[in-house]
Amino acid sequence: MQPSKNTEAKPTKLTTARRTYRCARCRAEIGRGDQYLTVTVSHGSPSKEVFETRGGCPTAVAHGFRVRTKVCKTCLVAEPPT
Ligand SMILES: [Zn+2]
Repeated sequence: MQPSKNTEAKPTKLTTARRTYRCARCRAEIGRGDQYLTVTVSHGSPSKEVFETRGGCPTAVAHGFRVRTKVCKTCLVAEPPT
């Protein structure tokens, strides 16, 4: 046993639920005390932002956004995030 050296790969960080959530993939309930994973999902191109003039007023237009969703442990095993 080597308590000080942890060479095990830890690609994911599980969080213990403090309340009930719903899995973003399978819609199953993540109960309080269960472990879940927070994943960031990108929609479109969040880095792409252009300025457009709308009604004489320059407006920043984002072409995408990121959302943080919660995924249950079952989905994580079935489909690990890349
Ligand atoms: Zn799930």
